[in-house]
Amino acid sequence: MKHLYATLLFIAIVCQAAHGQFAATSAAWNRPIEPFRVVGNLYYVGASDVSAFLLTTPEGHILIDSGLAETVPLIEANLKKLGFRLEDIRLLLISHGHFDHVGGMAELKSRTKARLLANPVEKALLMRGGKGDFAFQDKYPFAPVEPDGALGDDEEVRFGGAVLKAHFTPGHTKGSTTWTTTITDGGRAYNVVIAASLSAPGYQLIDNPDYPSIVADYEASIAKLRALPCDIFLSLHSWDFGLHAKVAARAKDGAVNPFVDPEGYLRFLEKSKANLQKQIEEQRKPISQK
Ligand SMILES: [Zn+2]
Repeated sequence: MKHLYATLLFIAIVCQAAHGQFAATSAAWNRPIEPFRVVGNLYYVGASDVSAFLLTTPEGHILIDSGLAETVPLIEANLKKLGFRLEDIRLLLISHGHFDHVGGMAELKSRTKARLLANPVEKALLMRGGKGDFAFQDKYPFAPVEPDGALGDDEEVRFGGAVLKAHFTPGHTKGSTTWTTTITDGGRAYNVVIAASLSAPGYQLIDNPDYPSIVADYEASIAKLRALPCDIFLSLHSWDFGLHAKVAARAKDGAVNPFVDPEGYLRFLEKSKANLQKQIEEQRKPISQK
């Protein structure tokens, strides 16, 4: 009995520590930053370390990702600062079904009545509110949200004159999606890529019974991303696309747009590939060498 009590106490402490860490990470990623125009009618409206992108059109706006549940008030304030209204969002799109990218989708959907379109592979995860994730199980739940429509791979979403293309790039989740669009600004057309996450935080890459094709999927996704024309490189976490350094660079010299970064995009792909390779090799080592 005493042993059982000690075990339960231990579990409670571990759970609380994990939850505390979760909350601390969320807060650290959710610091407010000034929203800004990336190029043309595309704006960054997210938080310090979780992205949200707004594409404005005369028929209403398109929002890609909500950030965390706690990011929604920041997005609302950011839109207001830019002269837009949350209620004018008509279309909601997502990168993937993790708490830090779709945690606020349920609230945004109910407040805006916008249509949410998603990769059908991600639908079940979204409807379970992130529970039963192949890697995190029930560790990072969010408010469940039901997509209104299913996208096809390489499908073009057309709304208000904007054209966004969905590229299925699985690995980080089974339904991860990269978005591309072309935006004309100052007489020049820019190929924009909002790249999916390619990290595998703590993932079992070798012989994963819950995701047997995980390595092949990552490799195919990286090859697919490499083939995309990219002028403007964006992604889902600040560190992946150098958000803060680029914001600082633009503040120094407004004449250049540091988000035009095709080399940075390729570097991101190479670095992600190398990280995965390292992780795979580490997991292939016999236990005695670990
Ligand atoms: Zn994720």
